[in-house]
Amino acid sequence: MVRGALVWVIELTRAANPSFRKFPIMPTSIAKAYAGFDKSSPLGPYSLERRQPGPRDVQMEILYCGVCHSDLHTVKSEWPGTVYPCVPGHEIVGRVTAVGAEVKAFKAGELAAVGCMVDSCQNCPSCNEGLENYCDNNGIVFTYNAPDKHMPGKVTYGGYSTQIVVDQRFVLKVSPKLNPAAVAPLLCAGITTYSPLRHFGATKGKKVGIVGLGGLGHMGVKFAHSFGCQTVLFTTSPGKSEDAKRLGADEVVISKDADQMAKQAGSFDLILNTVAAPHNLDPFLNALKRDGTLVLVGAPDSPHPSPSVMNLIFRRRSIAGSLIGGIKETQEMLDYCAEKNIVSDIEMIKIQDINTAYERMVKSDVKYRFVIDMASLKG
Ligand code: NAP
Ligand code: ZN
Repeated sequence: MVRGALVWVIELTRAANPSFRKFPIMPTSIAKAYAGFDKSSPLGPYSLERRQPGPRDVQMEILYCGVCHSDLHTVKSEWPGTVYPCVPGHEIVGRVTAVGAEVKAFKAGELAAVGCMVDSCQNCPSCNEGLENYCDNNGIVFTYNAPDKHMPGKVTYGGYSTQIVVDQRFVLKVSPKLNPAAVAPLLCAGITTYSPLRHFGATKGKKVGIVGLGGLGHMGVKFAHSFGCQTVLFTTSPGKSEDAKRLGADEVVISKDADQMAKQAGSFDLILNTVAAPHNLDPFLNALKRDGTLVLVGAPDSPHPSPSVMNLIFRRRSIAGSLIGGIKETQEMLDYCAEKNIVSDIEMIKIQDINTAYERMVKSDVKYRFVIDMASLKG
């Protein structure tokens, strides 16, 4: 009650006084969420503050949020720097509930999406090229667990919540033609595979390998197939072979079988490795042609064993990396998916099932992306 009156007084004062408007005191609203509270306890209910939408902000009710292995790496402190409570989630699809006065591209009632970033410096060569993900000033603000410019002293909170407020430049348009729950994983798993496949030349007729059939990998198979590549899945799970073919793989190779790997030697133009754990990269380097590239997108908690230099220099092969994708390319990918009717294969869960979902993810038992139905958090 007191808080409500205070916000009302602030709003009235701001409306009456233009100089005050330059230095807004942001009132907030409360959203329900699920958070990790330390590296070993299960995730559980949490309440967080979201800012009220400013002039360039879009406020969304979150409908669906995909579950990325990065969420698990972060919540479990497998990567350094987790701030608790940690609210993960960067594959967000929702419905716009309010927009700021300067927002023209979105309006209340429309579907919209948010991916892995909510801001960047917007003023460096990479940002100016639409590659905010590679912001030269290290200005990228991740959707969760990053210092929140709008709420000093706090970190950003992600999509395992009922509501989010994001600068319009980091909000994506979603076609109503597609199932919105199955669109959610495109915001990370989709763009993280689409972008390197495009950048490193996965075009018609090229032989392209995807390593790992999880969230990222299954989107990689779909995109490589859709781009007309000869698409090969490398998997440690023989039981996924049929699914891989259904998803678009022309061939499946069991990566733990040395004979099967040896048969692929020297044949690939490009291999995209999505594996979330450290492993020997040499068998994949061996599979590349002269001038072929192995692109790493999987981000394990400890380094891969060093690959053999000989495997690189004798065939002029490269190892590269790639981080999600810029906003322009993410919109291009979403539009491409709407045109080609591509979405993620999902298992819908309630937020209350998130801890079991994490356990299954660690066992590579996901078909092929968990998506949280956020109605389960609202009830
Ligand atoms: P995921 O759904 O768990 O899939 C990973 C797949 O890797 C598994 O399904 C499994 O496929 C394979 N795998 C797992 N452990 C393995 C092991 N010990 N040896 C060999 N293969 C193994 O994970 P995800 O959400 O796709 O994410 C994958 C990785 O990418 C994570 O490290 C994540 O943090 C990272 N990531 C990076 C970016 C980026 O911008 N670069 C963006 C998002 C995520 P099989 O059963 O087929 O072998
Ligand atoms: Zn992700």
